[in-house]
Amino acid sequence: MKLYLYNTLTRNKDEFKPLKGNKVGLYTCGPTVYNFAHIGNLRTYIFEDILKRVLEYNDYKVKHIMNITDVGHLTSDADTGEDKLEKGAKREGKSVWEIAEFYTNIFKENLEDLNIQEPDKWCKATDYIKEQIKFVKKLEKKGLTYKTSDGIYFDTSKYPDYPKLAKLNLEGQKEGARVEVNKEKRNPTDFALWKFSPEDSHRQMEWKSPWGVGFPGWHLECSAISLKNLGKEFDIHCGGVDHIPVHHTNELAQNWGITNLESVKWWLHGEFLVINEGKMAKSEGNFITLQRIKDRGLNPLSYRYFCLQAHYRSKLNFTWEALEAAQNGYHNLIGEISKLPKPKGDCPEFEEKFLQAINDDLNMPMALSVLQELLKSNCPSGAKRQSITKFDKVLGLNLDQYKKEKVVSWEVQKLIDERQLARKNKDFKKADELRRKIEEQGIKIKDLPDGGYEIE
Ligand SMILES: [Zn+2]
Repeated sequence: MKLYLYNTLTRNKDEFKPLKGNKVGLYTCGPTVYNFAHIGNLRTYIFEDILKRVLEYNDYKVKHIMNITDVGHLTSDADTGEDKLEKGAKREGKSVWEIAEFYTNIFKENLEDLNIQEPDKWCKATDYIKEQIKFVKKLEKKGLTYKTSDGIYFDTSKYPDYPKLAKLNLEGQKEGARVEVNKEKRNPTDFALWKFSPEDSHRQMEWKSPWGVGFPGWHLECSAISLKNLGKEFDIHCGGVDHIPVHHTNELAQNWGITNLESVKWWLHGEFLVINEGKMAKSEGNFITLQRIKDRGLNPLSYRYFCLQAHYRSKLNFTWEALEAAQNGYHNLIGEISKLPKPKGDCPEFEEKFLQAINDDLNMPMALSVLQELLKSNCPSGAKRQSITKFDKVLGLNLDQYKKEKVVSWEVQKLIDERQLARKNKDFKKADELRRKIEEQGIKIKDLPDGGYEIE
């Protein structure tokens, strides 16, 4: 069956065809590791995980690369402001390297909690400094750069297709331009490739270059990492919609400068998670992490389920009530599936419908409703289970947990989660009470010294 994806480049749902046979090169922009990811960021990674699983469900072999931004991402898109990592280090009294390691680990835990598959390769920006310097040299040789007092900049007026991805109106931008902070820039859209370390203060991360000691601009790492690992031309590049007008537009410009090609064939972008109709952002005071969801005794996979209820190109409004409702729906689903007997046979009609839904630009709300329809259908019970196990390869909701030897029902799992929370809060009276309730259900648990538990 044909796979259709919405390409930001063409603003159209086009039939997907990889460049080479059944191999797909996939690049997804990773986190800037100076703070926790918020659940809005995580929504984007869930969408990208679904994309990867859908490609694999269609028998494509995916090579997935993700970067970790551990240097050079400034607090403003206009190449001014502080480096986010250096700022984080100051805030927490740690070195930038410690900050990067700490938040990288938390990020990987978040992915694991959400059943998001890891990329084939993680690439840290600081491991690609040599490549980034080489790129700037190449761009310089081609006459695409110029030097100002604070760095080397890309002259965006040299790239005729610069406005293409974001459908930018450059004339309008010039007329309505805000007061430009950097008066040395030739065009408002020009951006830094290499920034010089300030003379009056010391940076923890800086490197020697032909232009002086400094650090790479944020956009450069993604070009260097993707082209090195996926080749001069590759299939798909993803990120959040906020990346379209600046980060991804600048990446395309750099790639063109280096390869003379439109290097990325497909751009896919995930919409925002909104809270009280506003964008979730670290600066907005509505910053929710996955840990906060867990601290409320909610399952991270309920959040995954919540995200799948909306299409990735629609805004999704977050409220705690909506997440709790999603958790109830998720638990009911698991409960129903756990009553089904061992997998046997299949339900081709529903498998066809499911494939149709996911191949229609990853229509997960439709895919979930096919699953509900299947459960209510006359299909034999064992066949239902078999088909659901297949669907879960895409959904990633652990619907086929019955495979594990020790299975606890979701009612019991809820009690265990609550008890774990009580233990963490040192509310031992409540923990004992919950233990009794769990034992009433015929399940014995043993506490482990590291705070974890084991089902006996
Ligand atoms: Zn990127």
